Amino acid sequence: MRIVRAESLGFCHGVRRAVERVEEAAADHGTVHSLGPIVHNEGVTARLANVGVKVVWSLAEVPEGGAVAITAHGAEADVLDRIAERGQPRIDATCPVVRRAQEAAAEAATAGRSVMVYGDPAHPEVRGILSWTGGRGVAFESADLGNASIEPPVAVLAQTTADPTEFEPFVDAVRLRFGDDIAVIDTTCPETVRRYRAARELVGRVDGMVVVGSRTSANTVRLVDVCRAAGVPTFRVASAEEVDEHALMGLASIGLTAGASTPDAVIDEVLRRLRRLGR
Ligand code: SF4
Repeated sequence: MRIVRAESLGFCHGVRRAVERVEEAAADHGTVHSLGPIVHNEGVTARLANVGVKVVWSLAEVPEGGAVAITAHGAEADVLDRIAERGQPRIDATCPVVRRAQEAAAEAATAGRSVMVYGDPAHPEVRGILSWTGGRGVAFESADLGNASIEPPVAVLAQTTADPTEFEPFVDAVRLRFGDDIAVIDTTCPETVRRYRAARELVGRVDGMVVVGSRTSANTVRLVDVCRAAGVPTFRVASAEEVDEHALMGLASIGLTAGASTPDAVIDEVLRRLRRLGR
């Protein structure tokens, strides 16, 4: 069995930076309360817990004076205000790419535009971006705008992990409804776009794909969709133990890719397991 790695895969700079920041902060403060998991990866979350990074889901769970970490996905504007009001130490690991999307949303809203975000309305990053619009933003999961009531002029942007091949039809749908006076701000993340592109390139050269990452990671799930859309059998695994050798049997070549929140060590373990199967 031939194993081929995608040219671009795994941990992105935003996730790497966030992990380093909270590790350093935990060493300084003892315990750091992360508002949601720093990375959508159970193994990394468990390892960080061992060095003092505790996941909480709201500020109410953080004791007085406790250090609070904002994840790479960013936070809602009022959460940052409440942390400041409470005078708690804040470790802001918001990815600079996400920060730019928040700023773009805020600027568009200040300029009097309604802000239409292509992304998952329940995702913390999208909730955060919307919060910077002062109530002028709405998120859409598809190019079906339904009969949402939106005041023109509008600005359009994307969840950073959105795939441009889906964002473009969304922009077309908005243009169809509002004409050419729309501000399109491409807030997709170049690192994730590179991973989708590399997966598309690889999928045409192999008989099956293995995508390493958690089911809670938006771009891992999207990578799986990208590979399946090409009609190739695709298996998502969170770790080497989840590789199903029976499912891969008979495939002469396997492509390997991984979501932006999958650590190098996990990718390497999966690669070793696949190579052992291929002997
Ligand atoms: S995928 Fe992109 S936007 Fe998301 S954390 Fe990584 S670098 Fe930042």
